[in-house]
Amino acid sequence: MPRPILATVHAAALRHNLDRARRSALDSRVWAVVKANAYGHGIERVFDAFRAADGFALLDLAEAERVRALGWRGPILLLEGVFEPRDLELCSRLDLWHTVHCDAQIDMLAAHKTQVPQRVFLKMNSGMNRLGFTPERFRSAWTRLNALPQVDEISLMTHFSDADGERGIAHQIEVFDRAAQDLPGERTVANSAATLRHPAQTRADWVRPGIVLYGSAPDFPEHDAAHWQLQPAMTLATRLIAVQTLQAGDTIGYGSSFRAEGPLRIGVAAVGYADGYPRHCSTGTPVLVDGVRTRMVGRVSMDMITVDLTPVPDAGFGSEVTLWGRSSAGAVLSIDEVARAGGTVGYELMCAVAPRVPVVLD
Ligand SMILES: *Cc1c(COP(=O)(O)O)cnc(C)c1O
Repeated sequence: MPRPILATVHAAALRHNLDRARRSALDSRVWAVVKANAYGHGIERVFDAFRAADGFALLDLAEAERVRALGWRGPILLLEGVFEPRDLELCSRLDLWHTVHCDAQIDMLAAHKTQVPQRVFLKMNSGMNRLGFTPERFRSAWTRLNALPQVDEISLMTHFSDADGERGIAHQIEVFDRAAQDLPGERTVANSAATLRHPAQTRADWVRPGIVLYGSAPDFPEHDAAHWQLQPAMTLATRLIAVQTLQAGDTIGYGSSFRAEGPLRIGVAAVGYADGYPRHCSTGTPVLVDGVRTRMVGRVSMDMITVDLTPVPDAGFGSEVTLWGRSSAGAVLSIDEVARAGGTVGYELMCAVAPRVPVVLD
């Protein structure tokens, strides 16, 4: 028998979350962002649920090929654009729209031999300082692109650094609007956090939600997934494979990082950092046993964690352990809470589920 660990991807939740994002941006078309193999859920697994999107956005050309291989004939956007000249041939062959964020990409386009002009998204660096032309250089980049026979329609794009937080987006919107003023073309500015938190200011032709589609709150802990009516799209679950009874003073696991203050029943669950469970999680990280919330105790090992069975006295060998997502009885443990306990974000946990974990779609 294989180890009892299993990741389950919930198609109904993916559909619900896409619909939720759309309801925040009723005038916009929606890119379903499926980079990083659909945030770890698997492009082939999420595809059917996301057919209702207006396009797929990602950044790996091999992933774009996979979306086309699934039969998608609508828009696909490369969020980082091309990396080398021959990528433009794939863009022509698969009809991929691509971001243009730097001069090197315009040079490649100018040298590209094609009969079919390509649709591009010109990206402005409005303050994130990662990708894009500065506001001062944006217009000249647009003019240069517009003069190329290789280029068809030009859309305008930027990305927010603080849509999930206190600083917000107003300063970047102002920069973008001023520098893009009078330029024709469709606009796209909003990620998940901007789509949900700033719907009025980010109304545009396209929105680009990613994390919300997978049921994680973009601005946790200020708001949780339930606040935004999002449903967990992934459950990571396993079972107890042993039980230990500790006495006062006994310790657990490597480094003896946890010491029992009194008698304590401990369950040993078949999941560890080699499965993608964050090693930085320590005593107190929430976990469900038979759908009942309890806490992890001690260190995360490669293949096991240990959990406090005090709130679930009937639990024993074979009991269900939910690391995040939904228990079979319907209790929910948000990936955001677990991520926070490990000093990270839900994005990283969903992307990091290890290849050795079997995944099913339900
Ligand atoms: C990843 C990404 C998104 C989606 O971000 P979320 O926070 O997951 O919604 C949108 N736009 C760009 C350019 C991205 O790289």
